[in-house]
Amino acid sequence: MAGTVTVQDIARRIRDVPDFPKPGIVFKDITPLLLDPVAFRGAVELMTAPFRGARISRVVSIESRGFLLGAPVALGLEAGLVPMRKPGKLPAERGRVEYALEYGTDALEMHTDAVAAEDRVLIVDDVLATGGTAAAAARLVRTRGADVVGFTFLIELDFLKGRARLQGERIEALLHYA
Ligand code: AMP
Repeated sequence: MAGTVTVQDIARRIRDVPDFPKPGIVFKDITPLLLDPVAFRGAVELMTAPFRGARISRVVSIESRGFLLGAPVALGLEAGLVPMRKPGKLPAERGRVEYALEYGTDALEMHTDAVAAEDRVLIVDDVLATGGTAAAAARLVRTRGADVVGFTFLIELDFLKGRARLQGERIEALLHYA
């Protein structure tokens, strides 16, 4: 249970790091939150709660900070945990999706036996920024014929309008930055 942990308690444990990894980016550093087990547990519980009762069978977590949040969310929902990784990391047969970055492209991979047509999937990541990563993750899950029930993020950078890239999707985010 989240107990008495509030969204403000969680927000206080997110550190803004200006100009990381490059000038002009304010990086949302979640490591202070991870150091506080009460606030961390509360954040996980609040990210999980909207999807209790949604019959989620798989939690797909996006490399790499998504793993830290996706693992406890999956346990809380009694769902299987699926790591979605950068190319070249997963050892067995895998599917791949490519997506556009500001300059160039990136890709994500997922084991083909990790998600099946009957699965109901929740996608988890730390930050929703432009939405490109999340949209690509959903595309890759759907290549397996599975149902993407929704997304849960710790942080949404509202000013980047990631939701617009995810129209028609169910999106939950705990902390919002305008
Ligand atoms: P996007 O595809 O633009 O929505 O970017 C999402 C991915 O980039 C997530 O996996 C985040 O971990 C990371 N990310 C983007 N912007 C930030 C930020 N300001 N602080 C921390 N992580 C970020």
